[in-house]
Amino acid sequence: MTCIVYSDDYLLHTNEQHPEHAGRLTAIMDYLKKLPFYEKLVLTEPRKATEEEIEKVHSHEMVERAKRVGWLDMDTYTNEYSYEVAKLAAGGVLTACRTVEEHGGNAFALVRPPGHHATSIRSMGFCVFNNVAIAGSMLAEMGKRVLIFDHDVHHGNGTQDVFYERRDVMYQSIHLYPHYPGTGSISEVGEGKGEGYTVNVPLPHGAGDECVNEILDEILIPVAHQFAPDFILVSAGFDSHHADHLGGLSLSVNMYGEMIRKFSTVQPRIVCSLEGGYNLECLPKGVASELGVLCNMPVIFKDNVAGRECNDVVKKLKDVMKEYWEL
Ligand SMILES: [Zn+2]
Repeated sequence: MTCIVYSDDYLLHTNEQHPEHAGRLTAIMDYLKKLPFYEKLVLTEPRKATEEEIEKVHSHEMVERAKRVGWLDMDTYTNEYSYEVAKLAAGGVLTACRTVEEHGGNAFALVRPPGHHATSIRSMGFCVFNNVAIAGSMLAEMGKRVLIFDHDVHHGNGTQDVFYERRDVMYQSIHLYPHYPGTGSISEVGEGKGEGYTVNVPLPHGAGDECVNEILDEILIPVAHQFAPDFILVSAGFDSHHADHLGGLSLSVNMYGEMIRKFSTVQPRIVCSLEGGYNLECLPKGVASELGVLCNMPVIFKDNVAGRECNDVVKKLKDVMKEYWEL
């Protein structure tokens, strides 16, 4: 069973002048409804996360600050609905995880605002609360080993921050580097007990499918197998697509499905959660590519683009990770 978690209430948090506006989600839903597999998907209503659940990851002060209407940082807006919608976004991923935990299968939480930049003490980068980190922390509390894979073009500094010293939740990220928010170098590998449990893949401008496939096959998937997660959460950001205005990587739409296919060989319990993606033509296709793989009715798009090789990154990262994993 593949479930999608969605509510029209996610559209209430919006600002038409901002790239992260409600139209992103309407574009996705409109597109999905036209696809043959849509009928197979189980549409599930999200619940709101409680303040207690949110404060397992975020400080009380940060949660209080998020109730304000205006700007939480230079690029993170809130309107009169945002606080409740942000709780519904965090709760959406919790709902998706709970459904997968109880009924098996997999899920895609089509939520907004996104989450992966929100640190334990700060909303930032369009993100109010860290939806994936809140879900990861709930799963870890249930005794699960959790792998978070982040394919947004931006490094998920918030998620890394939350789990940096833990070994029960692994964070793997591919991202353009250097780029916003500035973190995510190879040498950031975790700290204390968590050393070796953060895997950063900083990619050069223009890196594409071939490069990411190599990284996955030679490093991320072998490390994931050794970590042996009970659950995989995907921070699904589609601004890593070659046509995204906020990006700089050269992934094709089909690569999103391919990444999910590879991770499902490690653990089929997968919950994807929407992060970035601002090209309204490509974003819905990226989601469709992942959902097609999740529900076993893959869709293939005509979308080929030549990417740049990244042998340097593969070699350097392998050298660093060999210290912790068999590679
Ligand atoms: Zn992003």
